[in-house]
Amino acid sequence: MEYTVAQKVKKEWGKKECDHPHLEKEYYVGAFLINYICTSCGKEFTIAEKLEMDQLSKRQKQDLSFH
Ligand SMILES: [Zn+2]
Repeated sequence: MEYTVAQKVKKEWGKKECDHPHLEKEYYVGAFLINYICTSCGKEFTIAEKLEMDQLSKRQKQDLSFH
């Protein structure tokens, strides 16, 4: 998602709760930036935060398979 679009999404989303279901790499004038963006609310995540979330969702899936 483009940086400028993300800013717009963020503004329109406001302060609502978001599960951040889909993160996309952020880019600006064709160049990728180091951050990820939630396509729903426009929140920015660092690579470290994204990895953490990936691991968290993996863990949740594993937890579910135990039930
Ligand atoms: Zn979000």
